[in-house]
Amino acid sequence: MLSLILVLACALGLVLGVPAIRRALITGRIFRVYRKVLPSMSETERDALEAGTVWWEGELFRGNPDWAKLHAYPAPKLTPEEQSFLDQECNEACRLVDDWKVSHEDYDMSAEAWQYIKDKGFLGMIIPKRYGGLEFSAFAHSQVVTRLSTRSSALAVSVMVPNSLGPAELLLHYGTEEQKNHYLPRLAKGLEIPAFALTSPWAGSDAASIPDVGIVCKGMWQGKEVVGMRVTWDKRYITLGPICTILGLAFHLYDPDGLLGDKKHIGITCALVPWDTPGVETRRRLFPLNAMFMNGPTRGKDVFMPLDFIIGGQAMAGHGWRMLMECLAAGRSISLPSSNTGMSQVTARTVGAYARVRSQFKMAIGRFEGVEEALGRIGGNTWLNDAVRRMTAGAIDLGEKPSVVSAIAKYHVTERARQIVNDGMDVIGGKGICLGPSNFLGRAYQQIPIGITVEGANILTRSLILFGQGAIRCHPFVLREMHAAKNPNVAQGFVDFDQALFAHVKFVIGNGARAFVGGLTGASVFAAPSNVAPETRRYYQQMTRFSAAFAFLADVSMLTLGGALKRREKLSARLGDILAMLYLASAALKRYEDEGRQAADAPFMHWAVQDSLFKAQQAFDGVIANFPGAAMRKLLRRVLFPFGAACTAPADRLGRDIAKAMIEPSATRDRLTALVHLPQNEHEPVGTLEAALSATIDAEPIDAKIRTAMKGGALRDNPDANVRDLAEAAFAAGLVTAAEHAVLRRRDALRDVVVHVDDFPMDFGQAQQAESALTPLQRAAA
Ligand SMILES: Cc1cc2nc3c(=O)[nH]c(=O)nc-3n(C[C@H](O)[C@H](O)[C@H](O)COP(=O)(O)OP(=O)(O)OC[C@H]3O[C@@H](n4cnc5c(N)ncnc54)[C@H](O)[C@@H]3O)c2cc1C
Repeated sequence: MLSLILVLACALGLVLGVPAIRRALITGRIFRVYRKVLPSMSETERDALEAGTVWWEGELFRGNPDWAKLHAYPAPKLTPEEQSFLDQECNEACRLVDDWKVSHEDYDMSAEAWQYIKDKGFLGMIIPKRYGGLEFSAFAHSQVVTRLSTRSSALAVSVMVPNSLGPAELLLHYGTEEQKNHYLPRLAKGLEIPAFALTSPWAGSDAASIPDVGIVCKGMWQGKEVVGMRVTWDKRYITLGPICTILGLAFHLYDPDGLLGDKKHIGITCALVPWDTPGVETRRRLFPLNAMFMNGPTRGKDVFMPLDFIIGGQAMAGHGWRMLMECLAAGRSISLPSSNTGMSQVTARTVGAYARVRSQFKMAIGRFEGVEEALGRIGGNTWLNDAVRRMTAGAIDLGEKPSVVSAIAKYHVTERARQIVNDGMDVIGGKGICLGPSNFLGRAYQQIPIGITVEGANILTRSLILFGQGAIRCHPFVLREMHAAKNPNVAQGFVDFDQALFAHVKFVIGNGARAFVGGLTGASVFAAPSNVAPETRRYYQQMTRFSAAFAFLADVSMLTLGGALKRREKLSARLGDILAMLYLASAALKRYEDEGRQAADAPFMHWAVQDSLFKAQQAFDGVIANFPGAAMRKLLRRVLFPFGAACTAPADRLGRDIAKAMIEPSATRDRLTALVHLPQNEHEPVGTLEAALSATIDAEPIDAKIRTAMKGGALRDNPDANVRDLAEAAFAAGLVTAAEHAVLRRRDALRDVVVHVDDFPMDFGQAQQAESALTPLQRAAA
């Protein structure tokens, strides 16, 4: 028997170990089949898949993350200039914007606020100083957007969009010198307002299929006949479109008469079109969930424009899609992760305070376990969102263009922000529902779906991008195999394929074995890094185990389902969830180390990591339970989870610790909500809440004293001893001193402002509606 095994092992070793034999017996067949089944990819698909770089997610995909690498990434920091901008200019911009006035009275930010953000360079944060821009780091840019988002979506989005994927970003990378010298200084100072128009009514998520076209032709431009383009488009949802002065426009360019060369369909092309070019229509408006940032449609029919309008000039005609894909990661890493972290922070701060100020059943609502549970989620998710935002912005500052990570950050921060805002709304009850100047959360609740939809709608991002692109980009061998199979030099392709394939086989076996041993030993077989906080070491072991299990499961899924995996979106989405949860947990661990292991923040870190790992485990479960073939399901379960579940959801105790930290002033609460704009007066909802929170805490011992007296019979049958008038009754009865009475009165005054909602005259809004129903001529006549 032993000799038989030895003979078989030698034969296998010979077949696999000697390339010539292996290629003849194994690789040849696989290579032929693989070349046949490999789906052909359009240029746009290839550009989308191959754009950007692979960063930390690559480590997670390989099954054995190098934790030293994670902690070697520098912690993002602001320069003194950036810090001062955040403290001064950002706060002043916030002060100038009153979200209620913007959304219910003026339908736009005030002229003063617009002028301020233009003059101070908010619209040119990504533009280098040599063009007059602020040249901020990605982290600083993210800090600014986060802070502005805690005040007003109109303000945040108006600043965010010019600094995201659009004219400035595209010009910086692809513009001709002439275009850069002309536009960048003007964009930096807000003399030009940019918008970028890609989406059409017929092509949203599938943006490469836009029906908008440009035809190369001759035409008159500034008195001379030139070769140019006749462009027709119909776009919608274009942010800043109604007020833009330069419109970035994407369309398919055709050259039917061969004026530029042999190619008839040149491809997607991006041009910069001044808004006043004859035939350009931009000045209409949409109301995205009544967020008052400018957004609208744009149209043009046979608009003639010179080839110089193409970003990068004629040389870049047809390269628009690649340009967009290559630049997508930077903006996507910053805009939505930052704005939604801002919403998360302001929710955590205000709802935490409200939960202490608002009492029911003689107790602050934040102390009821049910509310505590929601507060725990708000706090844990907010801390995690910020961790993800920081780490992802940090990647951009390291020169990465992390396409998969940016999609993870966009998807998961916006989804967690949605959970945070929903939880917040539940906690504050009717206060959040009735809109008015003193409602601090209802507008965020209204607008949260915007972040879910833009920059890659979330369902699509989760179902197609996270794993679909991740598997090809992050996997150490899949892209190599694909390139080898497509190599026009078939002989060389065959050799490359053989090398990649057998390295891949070893990789799969290695990950499967490690995942299995990890499962058998509860991950204790994996070494945790020695230089991390002792209380986190166990997490590194579990994450190494999950990373190996994920790498193995990813390969088994690709092998079993092949091209069909693209259609099996529910499986692909869950695989993407595992990768994403490992990224989120990494961000949480990194934040904890970067911030010096703040002991008081430990519950937030534990909650964030445990929640991410638990959700990763649920995603594993989902993939295995729905994997095709009962035998495969059984095998996968045995290999990956031999003893069943590996981790549990965050314990109630952690949620309680978090909730406690959220309902009282502390350094932890300040760190959690560090970017919230705090108005320095008590006439703004956030300022009032801050004051009411400290007044409530001052009053609590006095309340306790009154309650004790009441238990002894004081104030019995006194009609004034009710929830509203108790302070007065207690003072009148001599239960509290004058000084104590003053403390109670201040608390009561602030509490009453906080718990009230705004009411309006019956005809509220009708006057404005009647006016806007008039045409400008009718209005002038009236
Ligand atoms: C407020 C706002 C601002 C915007 N700003 C701009 C801008 O400045 N410039 C610009 O060009 N565009 C802009 N957009 C467009 C935005 O990027 C698109 O709305 C977005 O890409 C989705 O397109 P859609 O709304 O047409 O949805 P659809 O593409 O119709 O998608 C509908 C649903 O189907 C899902 N879906 C689609 N395909 C798949 C798939 N293969 N698998 C799984 N699910 C799928 C999507 O996830 C979504 O849930 C903006 C949109 C809004 C609402």
